[in-house]
Amino acid sequence: MKLKRLAVLFSALIGIYSSASAAADTLLSPARVWTGEGQAHANWAVLISGGKIAAVGPADKLNIPAGAERIDLPDATLIPGLMDLHSHVLLHPYNETSWDDQVLKESVEYRTLLAARHAAATLQAGFTTLRDLGTEGALYADVAIKKAINDGVIPGPRLFIATRAIVASGSYGPSPRSYRDDVDLPRGAQEVTGIDEVVRAVREQGARGADWIKVYADYRTGVDGSSRATFTQAELNALVQTAHESGRKVAAHASTDEGMRRATLAGVDTIEHGYGGSEATFKLMAEKHVVYFPTLTAPEATSEYFQKYQRGGAPTPSMQAAARAFQLARKLGVTIGNGSDVGVFAHGDNARELEWLVRLGMTPVEALRAATVVNAAVLQQGSALGQIREGYWADVVAVQGDPTQDIGALRQVKLVMKGGTIFHRP
Ligand SMILES: [Zn+2]
Repeated sequence: MKLKRLAVLFSALIGIYSSASAAADTLLSPARVWTGEGQAHANWAVLISGGKIAAVGPADKLNIPAGAERIDLPDATLIPGLMDLHSHVLLHPYNETSWDDQVLKESVEYRTLLAARHAAATLQAGFTTLRDLGTEGALYADVAIKKAINDGVIPGPRLFIATRAIVASGSYGPSPRSYRDDVDLPRGAQEVTGIDEVVRAVREQGARGADWIKVYADYRTGVDGSSRATFTQAELNALVQTAHESGRKVAAHASTDEGMRRATLAGVDTIEHGYGGSEATFKLMAEKHVVYFPTLTAPEATSEYFQKYQRGGAPTPSMQAAARAFQLARKLGVTIGNGSDVGVFAHGDNARELEWLVRLGMTPVEALRAATVVNAAVLQQGSALGQIREGYWADVVAVQGDPTQDIGALRQVKLVMKGGTIFHRP
């Protein structure tokens, strides 16, 4: 009896995964194609073969192999798979469970199971690549999630992972001052002090599977809970040097001007949040080609949870600070990528960040480029991902309408393909 039940369960599972199938050749015929460059092209089609883009161009000029599966996508636009380069698949919204309760009360096993669901929702929303910036107390669970996705065990986006993240001792959650001093609490990231420990942490995380090193250059360590730069310049310099020598790039959480300045001087590759950045620091970032991820959705979400903010209402001070920083960075020519801090808000709702980019001044095409071509370059994947171009991985998404005119079209996902495999079809 028991065996029979297992067999039924097993065949049900097989059924799920055979529905995510890759035909030998697939022809996608949308109303238009936006390749990542220029404007959208009406009446273009895309041929997929062996997981890659074999041809793209006017539909009547493509050589279609006999036996290719043809998928018509009337009224839809085909775009490169979207990328969100600031995610936390191991977190869920704080209005469901506070950050402290997730870290202190939810087991790593439970959080990993939730993360599988989050990864699936992300892919269904047309986001085929994430840079996941820290497990927030779930240790190296992201290494397992990435492997399960790559092995085809669970559906999900391509993951570039940072494992535990690195913070200065005593400068991250759960806040020691909020708990008795005689209990040992799990920590939200790896805590280090001094150059030796910084270097050791980078080496350990790299050895465990980190693709990126995430460092917190500042945190709420002030007497009054205000954000302060945490690491010394020498510690940050050593961290970046060690990461870069091992071929890993560095993402720095920094919301204070001093934290951003030190991180930039140390040579980090991206700065996250940056809400307190000055003109001088954004200029320095532009000069040193540090890419900025303004995470505009995070303050909106936390304002909703904790300050009774209602969408479309008067922006709270934290939202105003984020908007100011974004607009200043843009004016000064800082390269801006798309990264939302999703996990703070619901997975699969990643398009909120692109809507913010447009609301605060980008054209829809600029926002789409941030989430494709610009982000692919940040990942050093500019010749494999982020465009619909011959030889690139077939990570493509079809949305109803034209997102190059109306970014809201990203909400109407009709088809999701990753590496030539269809995960959502019309
Ligand atoms: Zn984050």
